[in-house]
Amino acid sequence: MRPVTPRSVAVIGTGAGGLVAARELRREGHKVVVFEREDKVGGTWVYNPVIESDPLGIDPSRKVVHSSLYASLRTNLPREVMGFREYPFVATNKTQRDPRRFPGHREVFEYLNDYVSEFGLNELVRFGTEVSYVGLVEEGKWKVRLRIGEDRVDEIYDAVVVCNGHYTEPRIAEIPGIDVWPGKQIHSHNYRVPEPFRDQVVILIGSSASAADISRDIAAVAKEVHIASRSVKKDGTLGKLPGYENMWLHSMIENVHEDGTVVFKDGGAVCADVILHCTGYKYYFPFLDTSGIVAVDDNRVGPLYKHIFPPFLAPGLSFVGLPLKVVPFLLFECQSKWIAGVLSGRLVLPSPEEMLADVEAFYLTLEASGVPKRYTHNLADYRFKYVDWLAAECGCPPVEEWRKEMFLEASKNKLVRPETYRDEWDDHHLVSQAHEDFGKYLS
Ligand code: FAD
Repeated sequence: MRPVTPRSVAVIGTGAGGLVAARELRREGHKVVVFEREDKVGGTWVYNPVIESDPLGIDPSRKVVHSSLYASLRTNLPREVMGFREYPFVATNKTQRDPRRFPGHREVFEYLNDYVSEFGLNELVRFGTEVSYVGLVEEGKWKVRLRIGEDRVDEIYDAVVVCNGHYTEPRIAEIPGIDVWPGKQIHSHNYRVPEPFRDQVVILIGSSASAADISRDIAAVAKEVHIASRSVKKDGTLGKLPGYENMWLHSMIENVHEDGTVVFKDGGAVCADVILHCTGYKYYFPFLDTSGIVAVDDNRVGPLYKHIFPPFLAPGLSFVGLPLKVVPFLLFECQSKWIAGVLSGRLVLPSPEEMLADVEAFYLTLEASGVPKRYTHNLADYRFKYVDWLAAECGCPPVEEWRKEMFLEASKNKLVRPETYRDEWDDHHLVSQAHEDFGKYLS
């Protein structure tokens, strides 16, 4: 076995990614400090009723609210699938907890806090500490500049693991005529409760999991909800949605006008009060200075070997949690194990040139299949294969068969029962298998 070298490692963020990175790095023997600008762990899962001064979330001078959670949010994965492999997300009999299979957001926040207590992670975290600069200094070390209230402090680390999340910087749809359109605009990042939309005519752009939830939330109080979606088919699915008196599905918006009219590409037109952009987010690393070695280009963060290591800055700089359309906590856990092992020298990376060649080959495959750059980190077609690859690198078993099957079953169930998939299901046998497996990790 290769000698294990402990490193000093700065982790940015205490979302699920930063927490599991902290645990895995310390387990490997590294000296870990986790920086968190807020006063709680949980990242996305810290619900904040406050919305930003700019509801579109694009004014650079706004005070940023990190989380994009809305009050009614329940998980879109069953808890058995969603939890870390080595710390299953099981219902507990503690008071005021939510035992449902698809629990409300507060339950995930509590689970992450349980994780912190279980592994004593709090002692590694410096709260109220924002990382404002990360850059390479001599001998491959990293300078990390911290903003603590009015104070600025520079510290030096062997490595930095970036876990700052990517659901905070809104991406906005470009709409011809929007400058003269008189209505309000908001991004789902700043959506919390439906009440402000009472009796309004709302245009909601998007078709993600949040778009589906939010449209139903709003339909309960709004006068009309019109969903503009890029992914609608030309086969007659457009029009009034079954089961609703006040919700319609349209193609994308063609343009908007001074008199409040919104015209859709399918020819329909509606006079609307609000446009709600459920159009996703941008990767954003305002603190990172790599002299251009790592850049964000059309939402591709690169070049990164396996979505984690920049070939020519590895292993000192790494990213946890960039992939999309994945099972996040499990993926973060495996990425973190790999980073921890590589940093200690127990696991070995290919040469920088080989890593870069791998990334370039990956980009060429995307191009050849017509996948736009902005979907570089979308792992929908190989989400488990990716985690299995990482697991194999780390000498861990592949993703459990029950988890893969349960994910598929839940996805199918969501299509069959879009309104009730969180409360009705048929995969009871898989739940039993999961719980049998959890026995290994639960004392
Ligand atoms: P985050 O949770 O965003 O944490 C990042 C942390 O970094 C934050 O605490 C932030 O304060 C801190 N930070 C950022 N910048 C700095 C800085 N410069 N200095 C110091 N600290 C900093 N996943 C699921 O598995 N199931 C679901 O049902 C699900 N639903 C979701 C619903 C919504 C609306 C959204 C937005 C996401 C959902 N996700 C879901 C995905 C979810 O984001 C991930 O599961 C996961 O919580 C992301 O963790 P993270 O650590 O990558 O980032």
